[in-house]
Amino acid sequence: MSTNDVRELVIIGGGPAGYTAALYSARADLEPLVIEGFQWGGQLMVTSDVENYPGYADGIMGPEMMADFRRQAERFGAEFVTDDVTRVDLSEQPFRIWVGDEEYRARAVIVATGASARWLGLDSEQRLQGRGVSACATCDGAFFRDKPIVVVGGGDSAFEEALFLTRFGTKVTIVHRRNDFRASQIMVKRAIDHHKIEFLTPYVVDEVLGDNAVTGVRLRNTETGETIEHDAQGVFVAIGHEPNTKLFVDQLDHDENGYLVTRPGSTETNIPGVFAVGDVQDHVYRQAVTAAGSGCMGALDAERYLAALEGHPGTALTVSR
Ligand code: NAP
Repeated sequence: MSTNDVRELVIIGGGPAGYTAALYSARADLEPLVIEGFQWGGQLMVTSDVENYPGYADGIMGPEMMADFRRQAERFGAEFVTDDVTRVDLSEQPFRIWVGDEEYRARAVIVATGASARWLGLDSEQRLQGRGVSACATCDGAFFRDKPIVVVGGGDSAFEEALFLTRFGTKVTIVHRRNDFRASQIMVKRAIDHHKIEFLTPYVVDEVLGDNAVTGVRLRNTETGETIEHDAQGVFVAIGHEPNTKLFVDQLDHDENGYLVTRPGSTETNIPGVFAVGDVQDHVYRQAVTAAGSGCMGALDAERYLAALEGHPGTALTVSR
């Protein structure tokens, strides 16, 4: 089914960036439609306590914060489609966006599709997903009560997951490929001080062991090549993220890792009228607060773009690549 209505603005993605763009653009009377994804809320839906979002002095649970963001945008008239975009055509105005057979058209589009967890890429990891292998401690941690757990990675995500998992596991072992961690000092200190957390470095996971459920991991020392087996019933992979840009990489400029490229100091992509905000274009900061800030920028940029379009109704839009 297709609709002939051309909207001012469609926002693709429902995380901090998308909802903030929705809030600002709704308050600017652009009546945005947010196609927020089937799993709306983004990465914060799988985060436990958020302690570093300004304004929540006592911290807040990630899902609760996302529900707040969404409700605030809704209050000013943002509409939501809780489904995944399946195709886009950004080659001419109006831009076209499909959710299955349903087509939406818009004069401006804000891409806020975020990033997703990265996996190690092992067959055994894939085979045992949902049987002990997970990328989400908040979702699956409780399954490993009184069981030994491994967390793979050396960034803030790995430390956050490990600290959270101490609520459940008998012990939590952080496995990291180097002896140095890129996680922040405060997280590293908390983990070192925690009686349930131990470290195995510098090791990579060669295989997740187990037939129908995880029983352990085979680890390889990256300096000596020595391999060891380590008991675990839960294996949490926390090795970073990949941008959700599959829908756009043929149409929008992106870097070698797939992150969308925006003009410095702006959210403009290579296509006038298409803006990118949040983690989908930011591999450096990747914080809820920076994503929200960039969502605000996207809304302001879109607003300015649409105002200019109205001022020059005959303007032909060209796609620059
Ligand atoms: P990250 O900082 O990119 O860290 C990824 C970790 O995984 C690195 O230690 C990396 O090792 C390791 N790794 C990557 N690929 C691997 C592979 N194939 N095999 C084994 N190890 C691999 O990602 P992140 O921890 O998800 O954090 C992303 C951003 O979010 C950061 O800016 C972080 O500060 C932020 N964050 C903040 C909080 C918080 O403040 N509460 C919580 C979570 C995330 P190397 O170090 O050797 O590259």
